[in-house]
Amino acid sequence: MKALVLLLLAALLPAAELEIRVVYDNTSARPGVQEDWGFAAVVTFQGRRVLFDSGTKPDLFLENLGKLAVSPASIETAVISHEHGDHRNGIYRLWPQNPSIPVRFLDAFPPKAFEEAAAIGMRPLRVTVPEEIVPGVWTTGFVPGRPPEQSLLIETSKGLVMLTGCSHPGIVTLVETALRQRGKDSVYLLLGGFHLFQTPEADITAIAARLKELGVARIRPAHCSGDGAKAIFRRVFGEGFGEAGAGLVLSPLE
Ligand SMILES: [Zn+2]
Ligand SMILES: [Zn+2]
Repeated sequence: MKALVLLLLAALLPAAELEIRVVYDNTSARPGVQEDWGFAAVVTFQGRRVLFDSGTKPDLFLENLGKLAVSPASIETAVISHEHGDHRNGIYRLWPQNPSIPVRFLDAFPPKAFEEAAAIGMRPLRVTVPEEIVPGVWTTGFVPGRPPEQSLLIETSKGLVMLTGCSHPGIVTLVETALRQRGKDSVYLLLGGFHLFQTPEADITAIAARLKELGVARIRPAHCSGDGAKAIFRRVFGEGFGEAGAGLVLSPLE
C-alpha cells in the first residue's frame, strides 16, 4: 500500500532530475510569498522529496509550502540543519500533518529540541556521521561549530549540489567537508545561508575567492548571507551568481 502511495506521489512530482523550492527566506522571490528571517527548502531529486529546514514562524512556513504547492503528504523525509529556531520551528507543526516523515536532527541538538519533539510524539533520528537519506541525497552529519550543523548534499548528473542552513561552522569548512566526504573536486551549485551578514568585506572577498578555488561554479546566497556578501559574490561569480528568496522554484540542472 505504502509503495503504491509513493508511486502515485512520484507521478505528481516534477519530472526534472532535480528541483529546489525555496520555502522560507529573508527575501521574497515571488509576489505573495512572504519573506521572513529563516530558511527552508524542499528538494525533489529523482522523484524523492526531502525537506531541508523549516523556517521560524510555523504558520508562515505552512502557508508558504501551500503557495508552492507542496503538500505535507508529499514530503518523504526531513533534515534540520541546526538547533536554531529559524530553521527548526516549523517542523513541529508540519510533522503532525504527516507523522510518517522521518525527521533528522543532529545528535548534538540541545535537550529542549528533543523534548519539544517528544511532546508531539515525534522521535527525531539522531545524526552523527554522513548518511544517505534517499538515493543520491546525503547529510554531511555533524560538522563542529557554534552551534554544530549538517548540510544537504545531492549527487546529480552534473555534479554536487549543496544546501546550507546558517553555515555556523563556516561556509568554507562546510564546502571542504562536503568535497572530502563525497570525493569530489567541485560543487555545481551552492545555495543557502552563509552567515556573512556581520563579516567584514575583506574577509568575505577572501571567502568568495576560496569558494571559487574549491570549484564552486554556481552560487545562490540566501538567509543570513547578508547584502554585502551578495554583492561581492555577484561580482566574483558573475554568471554563476543567482538570487535565492522565498518562492524561488529552481531546476538547476536544466
Ligand atoms: Zn543559526
Ligand atoms: Zn539561521
